[in-house]
Amino acid sequence: MVCKSGIIVMNTTPASEPMKGQKKREYMRAWRRANAEKVRIAAKIRLKAWRKENPEKRNAWAKANPEKIKAYQKEYDHNRYLANPSKRKASLLAWTEKNRDRLREAKRIWNIENADKVRGYSSKRRARKRNTSTIQNVLVNEVYKRDGWRCQICKKRVNQKLSYPNPLSSSIDHIVPLSKGGAHSYGNVQLTHLKCNVAVGVGGVKQTRLF
Ligand SMILES: [Zn+2]
Repeated sequence: MVCKSGIIVMNTTPASEPMKGQKKREYMRAWRRANAEKVRIAAKIRLKAWRKENPEKRNAWAKANPEKIKAYQKEYDHNRYLANPSKRKASLLAWTEKNRDRLREAKRIWNIENADKVRGYSSKRRARKRNTSTIQNVLVNEVYKRDGWRCQICKKRVNQKLSYPNPLSSSIDHIVPLSKGGAHSYGNVQLTHLKCNVAVGVGGVKQTRLF
């Protein structure tokens, strides 16, 4: 049997006998499987036409599914990159260059909004650099909660609302310093005031936690 497109497909039924029901469904399924690329393209064309005819529905859908739109955009970009990597890289670089100030400002705002994460990252990076044995993904807020928002050096409360570089703001202290091979792990970090942490560091004498 030859289908409309001219591609020869499975010849399961004599031409004289029109297919019905189950048999037809099976035949269609096999045809779709054998012509997956064609089916995909046809669906794409239909979708494009539908979008053109129903712009308001399309916009409503986009508004309701921002993460899907983002994923499609990412896939589209990735496919374009695969199609011509060097060209894409060059255009990305040019864009980055053109938007340097904007990017820097966005990064600055992100750093402020995610101060916890940034401090976590830098401790982790330092720990990795020093090749310490244990690197746990220490979530700063978990440590603060565990220590009950109380400075583990002076034992006074730490105000959650204060932020770096306020001397009374929260700070993560490594009980055994990273420089001395201490691990960046929950067992080796504690909540302290920034000033208490710094004072101990500068004095060189490390206070240990009293239980
Ligand atoms: Zn303190």
